[in-house]
Amino acid sequence: MRYSGGMPIPVQPMAIAALVALVNDWGSRPAEVGHREKPDADQKKSHVADRMHAIFADPDPAGRAAAVTAILAETGVRPGLTVTGEALVASWYVPRERDALLAAAALAVREHLAAHPDRLGVCHDRHCADVYVDASPAGHRRFCSLTCQNRSRVASFRERKRQAGG
Ligand SMILES: [Zn+2]
Repeated sequence: MRYSGGMPIPVQPMAIAALVALVNDWGSRPAEVGHREKPDADQKKSHVADRMHAIFADPDPAGRAAAVTAILAETGVRPGLTVTGEALVASWYVPRERDALLAAAALAVREHLAAHPDRLGVCHDRHCADVYVDASPAGHRRFCSLTCQNRSRVASFRERKRQAGG
């Protein structure tokens, strides 16, 4: 461990689409429920993906807020100023390199939820646990993709038909 006294590591909030891809590619639940292999055995990405998946899966806004706040505190992320060429850019820093990805992910969720408190979730299809960000005009999205929406619709149609004895 040679972290103490080192330079703080600059981090930027991840793009929300990149965060969704990270969670769906490396998350344990999306892989298990969707019967998929993770791209590789990256422990750090899996850890970050699982922590973020729990936030997408939490239906309670207060629970989401508490989880994001706790992760930000845990990483020790703090605001700063970075020199980029001639410009000074508002930025964030973490004291430890190993927390940079987790902080970038938590900052992305923080920004997104502050702007759109309800607009993320986990796919409602029974065979999928992928996460999504809801950019639909009405804000009633419940599935990660049209594929899942159609499959779920067909499944519930068959279920109703079966229960009706047809
Ligand atoms: Zn899905």
